Amino acid sequence: MIRLDQLTKVYGHGANAVTVLDKLDFAVDSGEIFAVVGPSGAGKSTLAQCINLLERPTSGSVVVNGEDLSSLPEKRLREARRRIGTVFQSASLFSRRTAAGNIAMPLEYLGVEPREIKARVGELLERVGLAHRANHYPFQLSGGQRQRVGIARALALRPSVLLSDEATSGLDPDTTRSVVSLLRELRDDLDLAVVFITHEMDTVLQVADSVARLEHGRIIESGRVVDLLTDH
Ligand code: ADP
Ligand code: ADP
Repeated sequence: MIRLDQLTKVYGHGANAVTVLDKLDFAVDSGEIFAVVGPSGAGKSTLAQCINLLERPTSGSVVVNGEDLSSLPEKRLREARRRIGTVFQSASLFSRRTAAGNIAMPLEYLGVEPREIKARVGELLERVGLAHRANHYPFQLSGGQRQRVGIARALALRPSVLLSDEATSGLDPDTTRSVVSLLRELRDDLDLAVVFITHEMDTVLQVADSVARLEHGRIIESGRVVDLLTDH
């Protein structure tokens, strides 16, 4: 599971200091999809970067499976990052590598043996329903298929947390539905804690178990999606 504890991010100093994230607290259990929804400028990208350890919080912490990752020394961060897989907006695939090649990249980077890479890539392709597209290049895939490759790549190092950073933004409603149903399937099959960051409330209602609304760097409301639905 992943927990944020009073997570705060301030850019700049003194009179120029801007508090972009202000004491955020939330916890996401394994097997749960937790959405963070908010308008442009709310702090979503900054939050994503703090969760995947590309940015360090100014104070507070990001705790994964009981360990505070935000205070680890630089040299241990690389290893810690493996526990969090990130899916980006528009998948961000390498255009010169095939679907299989993109999924293999994190494994190649770690120096995993070729035979093991092939086995794991095969498994991941199956899991996201793309075994028949293994050797296609990104331009030969649909938007939804590219996003499935992005999800498989995020899972390559067997993380316990999956971070989705605007992963369905820009997809049409049918494609969004199919990506959402894949995420829900993965949540169940792999017991993942999923943090789903988006500006689209409609998608939150489809995908999430719980949700927090972020505005001006603060959580202004949070709870179970079902409760939110019955309130409104
Ligand atoms: P969102 O992803 O929700 O649009 P961001 O995290 O990109 O929000 O930005 C939140 C606020 O933080 C914005 O007001 C933005 O201008 C500010 N901000 C983001 N990054 C920096 C930075 N490196 N330095 C100063 N301000 C920043
Ligand atoms: P690229 O042309 O993108 O570099 P490669 O053919 O070199 O792709 O494959 C990259 C990795 O993916 C290799 O480790 C390879 O074993 C694996 N791979 C390729 N095709 C498949 C497949 N159909 N099933 C499983 N793994 C595959």
